[in-house]
This record gives sequence, C-alpha cells and structure tokens, in this order.
Amino acid sequence: MKKICLIHTGGTFGMMPAEPTHVLAPADIRNLITGYLPEIEKIAQVDFEVAFNLDSANIQPHHWQLLGNIIQKNYSNYDGFVIIHGTDAMVYTACALSFMLQGLNKPVILTGSQRPLALIRSDARSNLINSIELATHDIPEVAIFFGTYLFRGNRAVKISSTSYEAFASPNYPELAEVGLDILLSDYILSGGDKLIFHDRFKNSVFSFRFFPGLNPDFLDFIIHSSLEAVVVEALGVGNLAILENSIIPWIESMTKAGKIVVICSQSAYGYIDLELYECGRKISDAGGIPAADMTPTAAIVKLMYLLGTYPQQPDEIRNNFLKPIAGEISEKIN
Ligand code: ASP
Repeated sequence: MKKICLIHTGGTFGMMPAEPTHVLAPADIRNLITGYLPEIEKIAQVDFEVAFNLDSANIQPHHWQLLGNIIQKNYSNYDGFVIIHGTDAMVYTACALSFMLQGLNKPVILTGSQRPLALIRSDARSNLINSIELATHDIPEVAIFFGTYLFRGNRAVKISSTSYEAFASPNYPELAEVGLDILLSDYILSGGDKLIFHDRFKNSVFSFRFFPGLNPDFLDFIIHSSLEAVVVEALGVGNLAILENSIIPWIESMTKAGKIVVICSQSAYGYIDLELYECGRKISDAGGIPAADMTPTAAIVKLMYLLGTYPQQPDEIRNNFLKPIAGEISEKIN
C-alpha cells in the first residue's frame, strides 16, 4: 500500500461552525478527517502533519518555506503528498512549491473545499478522497485538485469564489479528469532524478492592473522605493497607453534604475506578444519583459523566487525569467 503524507495548512476545509456565533473556527483536523472519512485508509497509508492552521489570506512566504521544508524532510518516506489549503491563496502556494521542489519525482497535490467537511453537501469529502487517490499515481508535479480536474499548480487560477469547480488552467490542459475513472493526460511533466530544494523568496515585488486613465505619476513612488520588480497586468497581448498618460517613460525610468518590469495580460487565455502593436514594441524598447503565457500569479511568485536566488543581480533575473522551471511557461512562444 502506498504511503501518503497529508499536510494541513488551514482554510474552509477543516472549519467547524462554532456555537453560538456560527463563526467558522479551526477544528482538530486529524479527528475531523478520520471521523468523517475513515475510508481514506483503504486508499493509502495516510500520516497527518499540521503545518499551520490559517485562512490562506494570512499565508506569507515563510509559510511556503515551512511547507517546503516539511516535504523535503519527509520526501523519501512517502510516495506522495497531499496538502489541505484554503482556496483563496492556493495558487500562490502551488507556484511557490513548484519553484522550491525542482526535480520532483512524486505528486504534491493541493486541495481544499468551498464548504467545510463537517457541513452537509460539502465538496471537501470528494476533493480529499480524489486527491489522496491521485497522489498514489505517477504524477511528479505540484498540482491542484478541485471538483473534477487536476491542474498544474503554477498554471491554475481561482475562477470562482462559490462554485465547486473553483479552479481552471486556461493556458494549459488539465493533468487529469476524475469521473467514473481517473483519466491521466499526456501533459504531465516527467519526473526529475534528484530533488533540488530552493527556499529563498524576496518580497520586493509589486503588481498593478493597467486601466484607461491610469495616471503614471502615481507610479513614480516605485522608482524611488526598494521595490525591485513589478508585474503589470496589461491589456490583450500586452498593451499599455503610449499617448496620453503614456506608461513608457515610467518603464524607461524603472529599467534605468535596474528594476524589472514584467508584462502579463488581463486576459486569462493567450499570451503576450510585444511585437504585434506599436504599444507593445514601445514597451519592449523601454525594457519591459513579456511574460509569454504565464499567469500573473506565476510571474509574481517567480520574481520573488528569482530575487531570492539572485540577489542584486537584475541581469540574471532577466536571463532566467523566461526559462521554464516547472512547466509554468510554454517554451514555444518565448
Ligand atoms: N478564506 C478561505 C481560505 O482561503 C477560503 C477557502 O478555504 O476556501 O483560507
């Protein structure tokens, strides 16, 4: 029988309606799971670890490090890892783990639920059982299972705050579909030979969404701050204003100051192409880096990882930003 390490980090999954206020409060996850889901022992030998118990909005990079360390320490003892996590910040943790656990050769699956396990009609039950089952398969990726599908974690986006199909990966096919059978796709990465663990993140990253009327004067503070990299969510294939309220002088100043400006898209599907329009070409000439088909989340976390790995080396960050680490970017469109 396969051995799975089940790591709890918090979120709605384990919460209980606390009388008399009905405010959701953390519950004893181990008792909760064995009480509600005794059948998991039929799928695998499951050991429990409680990393922390937080609403995922409170998760910080040091929590990613803690989680990565638990996996690294227990790596050779288990066939796979399942992480119970709040849905809100799940994609950020998934991106971080995918960059931390390079050369992975076993599954690390994050899951959670929209409704607590202890409530009727909860999605927690099927999400956890399917995740444990998937973690017994040969899926050497950091992935998210939710609803019906398994997604590459660093390609996923949370698309619904209420639906039981809360995630999607617009720019990459699902890794598996769970119905009557478990159907694994051909898009799963091959496993690495040896785990190489990286746990340095630097949070000197900022992000904003461009909109018509955005006054670039409000962005000047970034040039004079200790921020080192900015992810701009641009329009379509990567367009920003170049006439009235032009963003170009700001990108030029950022580049001159040795700071990184990455261009992502507000569109969920497709990729950045800074050669297609004059707006894009000017961004590129000013030093903007196209994020290809990376999600804005993956771009932010990748910059945090690169800033931690190559401190004070903007050229190294520029050179490495478009190189895939864990399938977060499609090679053919770089
Ligand atoms: N606020 C919760 C969290 O992300 C929501 C959830 O678990 O779905 O931790």
